Amino acid sequence: VARVASPGVPTFGFDLGGTKVLAALVDTDGTVLAEQREPSPETPEEFVHLAGRLVGELTRTGGVASAVGVGAAGLVDHNGTVRFAPNMAGFVEVPLRSMLGDALGLPVVVDNDANVAALGEVRHGAARGARDALVVTLGTGIGGGIILDGHLYRGAHGYAAEIGHITVSTADTVCACGESGHWEAIASGSALGRIGREWAKRGEAPSILAAAGGEVEAITGHHVGDAAVAGAADARKVIDEFAVNVAIGLAALTNVLDPETIVIGGGLVELGDTLLVPVRAAFLERVEAAAHREPVSIVPAALGEQAGVVGAAALAREMNATP
Ligand SMILES: [Zn+2]
Repeated sequence: VARVASPGVPTFGFDLGGTKVLAALVDTDGTVLAEQREPSPETPEEFVHLAGRLVGELTRTGGVASAVGVGAAGLVDHNGTVRFAPNMAGFVEVPLRSMLGDALGLPVVVDNDANVAALGEVRHGAARGARDALVVTLGTGIGGGIILDGHLYRGAHGYAAEIGHITVSTADTVCACGESGHWEAIASGSALGRIGREWAKRGEAPSILAAAGGEVEAITGHHVGDAAVAGAADARKVIDEFAVNVAIGLAALTNVLDPETIVIGGGLVELGDTLLVPVRAAFLERVEAAAHREPVSIVPAALGEQAGVVGAAALAREMNATP
């Protein structure tokens, strides 16, 4: 199968995650023409079968497409092989690009899910037009994508931009990956819940404790966020502490990459200015020479849950232009 999309023709985007598959027919301007959602399959063979059915249904609903892009939640190499997927046990060392290409008879490109979501925000979302951008997904964990000089930065093997796992602390807070001191362990939604529990244990977070029904161990990041958005002073203080953790990583990455824009997506961005205002302030205190550099905008993502399918479709459209 040729690896070339037809100019001007819509493409398919797939977002393959641990719990669900989103599939969409996407026009060249990023408009979603048709969309489907299914539970995640257990095996690659089931996914290939599902993809075939979804391509058929999307074509009947929205029209034809010339290529397929897939964002998969794992380490994906330059050949479109999923090497490792922490939340999809059946997708280890799977040559997904060639399997899908053979089954669908269309050009296929496969990349990491956070990478394609980042491309979506840069091509059609909050960082539209940026040549150098950092897209950070703050959810249960931290994902991200790096756009350098207009292109996704993948690194030597395709594994770049695992930004949640940069080491930012000597503390022994253990990350979901098993290592200590990683950014994700202090600045993800899971970390927000842990910090909320710590404050509640010390008796310093009565409104958060009340939101969780009086059970310290039941406190999650959602309880902290909801209480803060509602204006509770104790929860606001927890968010301020957490915002410093977020800013530490953003400043570290900015010192390396010099982006013009940082886009924040994922569940935590629903906190809006309650989170972003203290993050911006803490960022300015930590990035090198803030008073002597152009401002870096830190903005909420625009595409929400569709960032992955829109970005995967953009990647499919651009695959003939990428080496
Ligand atoms: Zn880690």
